[in-house]
Amino acid sequence: MSNIPPDRCSVNPIRPCSRSNTGHSTVDEKDTHACCCLHTDSPLYARFWPAIFLFSAITDYPLPLPKGKKPGQHRDWGLMPILVVLGIAGFVYYGYLIHVNLVLLRIGKKAQAIVYLVFFHLWFIMFLASYARIVSHTPGHPKPSAAPANSSSNHDSQQESDTSAITPVSWGGETANVPESILGGPKWCEICQVWKPDRTHHCRVCDRCVLKMDHHCPWVNGCVGLENYRYFIQFICYTSGMATWIFLTTLASFIMYNSMSTFDGVALAIFIISGIVMFFIGIFTCSHLWLAMINRTTLENINFRQWTDTRKKEGGQDVKPPNTFTTTGRNIFFQSVSANWIEVMGDQWWLWFLPLASNHLSKQDGIHFGYNRDVYAEYLCEKRTK
Ligand SMILES: [Zn+2]
Ligand SMILES: [Zn+2]
Repeated sequence: MSNIPPDRCSVNPIRPCSRSNTGHSTVDEKDTHACCCLHTDSPLYARFWPAIFLFSAITDYPLPLPKGKKPGQHRDWGLMPILVVLGIAGFVYYGYLIHVNLVLLRIGKKAQAIVYLVFFHLWFIMFLASYARIVSHTPGHPKPSAAPANSSSNHDSQQESDTSAITPVSWGGETANVPESILGGPKWCEICQVWKPDRTHHCRVCDRCVLKMDHHCPWVNGCVGLENYRYFIQFICYTSGMATWIFLTTLASFIMYNSMSTFDGVALAIFIISGIVMFFIGIFTCSHLWLAMINRTTLENINFRQWTDTRKKEGGQDVKPPNTFTTTGRNIFFQSVSANWIEVMGDQWWLWFLPLASNHLSKQDGIHFGYNRDVYAEYLCEKRTK
């Protein structure tokens, strides 16, 4: 940190800053978006902010903020969210065991209770195992690299490369340790003192650059990125699956055995909690499965949606797209649904379900990603014509 030069823009040979006299933040604008500091002036939004905050914190869904508010999911909550998750899980375990299934056993429904408990424990074990994995596993960070020494020559090499053939190129010229980039980068992170490969962002909560950053998740006390996204998908799938199982079996028990005359308030609380989790995490899970299949991170998707909204509002086609998309809205990293899925989950299908280590990440360095050559050709063509 002590090596940070006074004019931070001047050390970036790739994207020299047009505002170098303003002394602005070192985190680039895209990352400011990435940290979910989108704001809205809507008074209606401000009025409902507590509910929106709760929704955002529970679902981990990034939403714009009323001015002056801090995002719930981007504060550093430390271990508290993990304790909350484990506390709720412990309560649900106790309630489902004692206040639902033990009651079923008492009224002579032994087979039903055993079936419920066997499947519940399978869900619960997988939920805990995937949670342990996502909480303990790093999202992946860029390797330490030497700071760029001079700016002008490298900047020239970028302009040449913008009109070069359709192959990934190193924009850094002769600078050591510069990762290759197909998006006109890489950028230099002043805070971490590393090169940021394509799709890498600086997380302001973790205060560190994260490879293929998806989002910062307080519920796992860290970032979701290249190396732990598979565990994250497993975790939300098992959470919503377990909640659905508890909700449906409790509902069936209520309907079959006169609800409150057989069961008590704890069973009702379990039913309500599982219903809420099933609904919110269920939607969240579906959105992440979809994002994995179309090879978009949450941040890239936010940028894409902002771009399409802005374009609609301004009614023109001249609004610059986010840097992973063409002006026709095509994603450079979309290969095919199966290839996109395998890039995240690996090619061993049983490991899609098990939170065990997978060797598919050994083929990924966080710098080179599969990309669609046709879309990339279109992308370069657009750059040439600008
Ligand atoms: Zn950084
Ligand atoms: Zn983070």
